[in-house]
Amino acid sequence: MNPALINFVYIIASILFILGIKMLGKAETARKGNMLSSVGMLIAVVITLFDKKILDCTDPMSWGLLVGGLVLGAVIGVVVAKVVKMTSMPEMVALLNGFGGLASLLVAVGEYHYDMVLNKMPDDFSKFAIIATILIGGITFTGSVYAWGKLSGKISGKAKVYVGQKAVNAIVALLSLISAGAFIWAGQFDLGYQLMIGAVVFSLLLGIVAVMPIGGGDMPVVISLLNSLSGMAASAAGFVIQNNVLIVAGCLVGASGLILTVIMCKSMNRTLSNVLFSGFGSAGSKSQKVEGEMKPISTDDAYYVLEAAQNVVFIPGYGMAVAQAQHAVKELSEILENNGAEVSFAIHPVAGRMPGHMNVLLAEADVPYEQLKEMEEANRILEMADVAIVIGANDVVNPAAAEDKSSPIYGMPIIEAYKAKTVFALKRGKGAGFSGLENGLFFRPNTRMIYGDAKATINDLVAKFKDK
Ligand code: NDP
Repeated sequence: MNPALINFVYIIASILFILGIKMLGKAETARKGNMLSSVGMLIAVVITLFDKKILDCTDPMSWGLLVGGLVLGAVIGVVVAKVVKMTSMPEMVALLNGFGGLASLLVAVGEYHYDMVLNKMPDDFSKFAIIATILIGGITFTGSVYAWGKLSGKISGKAKVYVGQKAVNAIVALLSLISAGAFIWAGQFDLGYQLMIGAVVFSLLLGIVAVMPIGGGDMPVVISLLNSLSGMAASAAGFVIQNNVLIVAGCLVGASGLILTVIMCKSMNRTLSNVLFSGFGSAGSKSQKVEGEMKPISTDDAYYVLEAAQNVVFIPGYGMAVAQAQHAVKELSEILENNGAEVSFAIHPVAGRMPGHMNVLLAEADVPYEQLKEMEEANRILEMADVAIVIGANDVVNPAAAEDKSSPIYGMPIIEAYKAKTVFALKRGKGAGFSGLENGLFFRPNTRMIYGDAKATINDLVAKFKDK
């Protein structure tokens, strides 16, 4: 195939990626952006298969393989999209990041193996690209699988810390770098191969030991950092196989993941090094004991308070996703509006289990974008709110983050639900939030607990409004 045509198609694919990512920045255009990027990727993969002469456009067999591959991939994609629940999306993202890292690692190992078969020693730059891909890809793979285990509850979500952990991690990192440096320096294939396998093993180990001490509350940052690393690994793999579109796509994922990581750190008021190395959420982290008791309220009584409310703020959290209560919440919000109340939704950037989790759920229920308020604005509105309805949110409304210097979440900006005249906290029981900390908000004099599944509670309130 004509190289000029191939490069032209690569440019088209890159433009589609960039436009797609730009459109992902707004909820209204995100779906289209996703589609555009996918089309870009499809074009890029197909043209690469011809560019690298893996397929031949004059051979009908090649076309058969291409169509077969497309159908197989599409079927797997559709099944996964249907089967995976919205609440399991973060785990899914973690796994996809991991597979991206593994794919890049295998490409690099394969390239060196192929060079060895041809007895053609790669130059220093190629060796550097190969080993960088292996290191980043290996860390991304095992780090992501470990993060998947934590998020899916297969491994405890708490940070695992032990004496001498930092030294052990530093030694593993050092061994990875030494084997990488020696690989570049090695002049013979046999030695190079052994050093490459060493780098594979150490990088896989490094992924595990690096994520081990990072606990529950910091998972959003870890996932977006691993996402960025998977992009960097792909970009490095692009240098290995000299494929421009892979370099561009990898850089886009790497850069956007890094930007998201920084945004997430800011949302938690933490530095990246604090997130990665502080052992946040480990068994040793404590906060002040909360005095008092949680006071329950029936939905009958809650109805009368809501009926009279002029300004209501919903504060959704992970529990709303678990209960899949978003449609019921939208119905209640409309009823309250028709009853004369001003309604808004306070969105914390790390509410739920993935960036934008609440926005996605509320968009699915057709809640108008104008009603979604970011943290700063929401906190201003809450000062005037008659009722704040906390729907399965916990850490993101925990006042200890603002008031208790000994709390591990101290400094994390929160939705200040306690400022509302009355707070209704909807949750199933007395369970703690993701960080494992007790929440003082639930013990405050202006808070009333409505126990039960959030969807059932909201439906109950809706029924009460409809009955009266
Ligand atoms: P939390 O995980 O802190 O709390 C969720 C609450 O929901 C629990 O207290 C639970 O209480 C309640 N709940 C669970 N199921 C139901 C249900 N069916 N009905 C009613 N309530 C229910 O959630 P937040 O959203 O407040 O905070 C998110 C936390 O997760 C933060 O610490 C954040 O850092 C972390 N995180 C965020 C990620 C992101 O990217 N957004 C990713 C990973 C972690 P009970 O058991 O009593 O019902």
